Amino acid sequence: MIIIIGNGISGVTAARNIRKKSDEPITIISSESKYFFSRTALMYVYMGHMKFEHTQPYEAHFWPENRIDLKQTFVQSIDTDTKTILCSNNESISYDKLILATGSKSNKFGWKGQDANRVQGLYSKQDLEDMEANTKGIKRAVIVGGGLIGIEMAEMLLTRHIEVHFLVREDRFWSGVLPEEDSNFIMEHFKKHHGLHMHYGEELDEIHVDDTNSAIGITTKKGERIDCQFVGLTAGVSPNINFIKESKIETNRGILINRFLETSVKDVYAIGDCAEFIEPVHGRRPIEQVWYTGKFMGETLAHTITGNRAEYSPGYWFNSAKFFEIEYQTYGDVLSNMPEGRTKFVYQHPKEEILLHFVFDSTTRRFIGINNFGVRLRHLVFNAWLTKEATIEEVLRDLKSANFDPEFYTTYESDIVGQFNKEFGTNIIVAKRKWWQKLIPA
Ligand SMILES: Cc1cc2nc3c(=O)[nH]c(=O)nc-3n(C[C@H](O)[C@H](O)[C@H](O)COP(=O)(O)OP(=O)(O)OC[C@H]3O[C@@H](n4cnc5c(N)ncnc54)[C@H](O)[C@@H]3O)c2cc1C
Repeated sequence: MIIIIGNGISGVTAARNIRKKSDEPITIISSESKYFFSRTALMYVYMGHMKFEHTQPYEAHFWPENRIDLKQTFVQSIDTDTKTILCSNNESISYDKLILATGSKSNKFGWKGQDANRVQGLYSKQDLEDMEANTKGIKRAVIVGGGLIGIEMAEMLLTRHIEVHFLVREDRFWSGVLPEEDSNFIMEHFKKHHGLHMHYGEELDEIHVDDTNSAIGITTKKGERIDCQFVGLTAGVSPNINFIKESKIETNRGILINRFLETSVKDVYAIGDCAEFIEPVHGRRPIEQVWYTGKFMGETLAHTITGNRAEYSPGYWFNSAKFFEIEYQTYGDVLSNMPEGRTKFVYQHPKEEILLHFVFDSTTRRFIGINNFGVRLRHLVFNAWLTKEATIEEVLRDLKSANFDPEFYTTYESDIVGQFNKEFGTNIIVAKRKWWQKLIPA
């Protein structure tokens, strides 16, 4: 019997891929919802673009057809000596192999008033339901924490015409991840959203409540008071592992795993947001709380569980997101503080909201990474360039092969390369896209 705790992208990917190669009974347990849903789509439910049911990639019949048992209950404890788990409905279940895929929880840092009514994070289905109730008829909200989930929350609230004040502790947006030019570009975009008031260099000091213990305002560390009826706490997430800390499985910030996704206890594995590498893969962080990482870990673990012990080898960093209307993708390494020995080339369109930030090795000219905003570029093509260690000149010459949006490149591609030639004294000529390059999938 294989038990998986957590029905998010990691747990479900592991289950689906195990089932392709094994007939072993599989049970997925989750307290949040019976069926797997796309967490990244929660915002669209609030904004009325889709119903919650539409966030579920598989229909109800998929699970019995694939002989994957689903249980909706909370796992309270794990006894690794007897290989059993205990659920909140008092059911005790034995396992041969246990996969922990318990995800994250929103951070709270002990702020005064953080547990009041109309104060919440945004992570779970319950959070979405709470947000629906907590923001009915309100006029003003404060969001604390300057990352991706905070911006999603701001976009959600603005669709309901709620004035949003956004506290960012640092002096620019997402400064731990984005280089300065990229932050500035996004910050300019925020100015277009008139209901959005960004407060850079500001931290939450205290949340004020009324006599029903509901939020009525906040004070920042600099002493500014903002009256509001809702406070969104989006200052990051951390592994959801409280109940695991009571077991014999070793933990730190997350559940400690080796490169094979194995924990300190035999036959127990951890994947996705809750897992922390003892020795991170080169160039990657020990905990990566992103969708693609969970998916890839689930796929890798399925090999091991079905008898082909496989090391996690995620390849080059890739991520994508949206800041209001602007799409963002990143391939390879573009760090907020560029290390020595690297050179950047930043192209920003003079009128349209498009920015491309390339990084390459100053000596060998090897292409190291790109952040692209306002255009979409092909993952497979960038992966191939990173793998074969293409130079920046090769990448720019063949940029058309990474092209998703022919309109963009027919108009601006030569501008990008022209600007590079001017800045770096090169003479790169843009190559025509060959017919077969159009057939490369995304
Ligand atoms: C609003 C939002 C937007 C996001 N946008 C992006 C994005 O654009 N791009 C991106 O890459 N990533 C994004 N992410 C992050 C991404 O969604 C997560 O990295 C991913 O969903 C984590 O998947 P997981 O399978 O590891 O865990 P989860 O999806 O968190 O699933 C874990 C499940 O386990 C359950 N569980 C935990 N403990 C127990 C227990 N004791 N008993 C029973 N059940 C338990 C939890 O309730 C949960 O249902 C976003 C996240 C949020 C919240």
